[in-house]
Amino acid sequence: QVNEAEAVVFNIPSYACQRRTALDNHNTVLTDALSLLAENAELSDEDGRGVAFRRAAAVLKALPEPVTGMTQLRGLPCLGGHSLRVIKDILEDGASGEVELTKESERFKALKVLTGIFGVGVKTAERWIREQIHSLQQLQDSGQTLNRAQQAGLEHYDDLNQPVTKAEADAIGEIVREAVMSVLPGAQITVIGGFRRGKLTGHDVDFLVTHPEEGREVGLMPKVVSWLESQGFLLYQKTTRNSYLESKDGPARPASNMDRFERCFSIFKLPEEETRGTKQTETLTENTPEDTCSLAANWQVKGGEQMKPAGHKAWRAVRVDLVVSPISQFAFALLGWTGSKLFERELRRWAGHEKAMSLSSHALYDNKQSRYLRATSEEEIFAHLGLDYIPPSERNA
Ligand code: ATP
Ligand code: MN
Ligand code: MN
Repeated sequence: QVNEAEAVVFNIPSYACQRRTALDNHNTVLTDALSLLAENAELSDEDGRGVAFRRAAAVLKALPEPVTGMTQLRGLPCLGGHSLRVIKDILEDGASGEVELTKESERFKALKVLTGIFGVGVKTAERWIREQIHSLQQLQDSGQTLNRAQQAGLEHYDDLNQPVTKAEADAIGEIVREAVMSVLPGAQITVIGGFRRGKLTGHDVDFLVTHPEEGREVGLMPKVVSWLESQGFLLYQKTTRNSYLESKDGPARPASNMDRFERCFSIFKLPEEETRGTKQTETLTENTPEDTCSLAANWQVKGGEQMKPAGHKAWRAVRVDLVVSPISQFAFALLGWTGSKLFERELRRWAGHEKAMSLSSHALYDNKQSRYLRATSEEEIFAHLGLDYIPPSERNA
């Protein structure tokens, strides 16, 4: 018999930024359960607990095979008593009572529905719940005052809660490219966020814009926004100007993940023909799989020509984030906006706790040498931090 004390099955380093985490993992039942508890904690303003569950889930995401017994978890980092209990319940009973109760709880369901409205955060949702508002209908009936973002969020609720596909992200990318090129030729556009990590769907599409000549990017966003607005591509936008230079609290505040780039949180009006104009005609004539059939059922085919059914709008709302960075900060912006959120948090924690450095989306500061460390690529930043380079597709912690 194997001495159990020696049976360390997996060797996983403790910071997520020291590990490769692909999109797919071998323990989705466990990671989904822990992620749900993390989400519930975050929705309950218990960020510390949220991070603990996220870290535990991330460790399981990094395992090379499915966990079948608790002994395999010995020596793994970031698995606290609470997470271990949840894992044990699932391994032994097939489900965790706590997770099932949370999923079904009225409070959790209401918080999800209400924070699912663009522009509504935990604080607002909690206030509404205290006022007996649990659903969109109740919100509308209540006559609550909504700000501009929340009004847009409510109006486009269904669209914005439907995952954005890769095809839609590509179509948005083309529109953004056209907008940026017509106001600043020579600018560079990079997909960031989940789509850069290889995700097949997202809750939004994120882009980083820069120009190879430092300073040429200044004031770019308002021009891009004007172009998009003049073409009818924007349903909502809120632009924030760059406040990096005037900030007094130092450029690399490790405690905050908010940066000060010029940015735009927006809702795009994506015409349907941009994603499936001609392609759909093709699939309709073939023996189609289920999803295309149901799509086709929504369309009338008259005399070989497709007609849109009455009441069917020819566009859909998509959340889009645009960020502009000067070229000198581009690598830091790219690293900081590619995610995942936990990967970013772990990078900053690693920098601070292990290297006495402060990392932000603008810069990397070495507290021992009292100087900024320059970088023109993500690879250089990982090297400064004493980390092996992890490509975007393996930052899905
Ligand atoms: P999803 O598919 O849900 O959009 P995502 O990873 O793209 O997943 P986002 O919320 O779009 O998630 O965030 C993308 C990245 O941008 C994250 O890594 C996050 O750290 C970063 N980010 C988001 N908001 C800000 C912000 N206000 N300031 C700085 N960085 C941010
Ligand atoms: Mn995103
Ligand atoms: Mn985003």
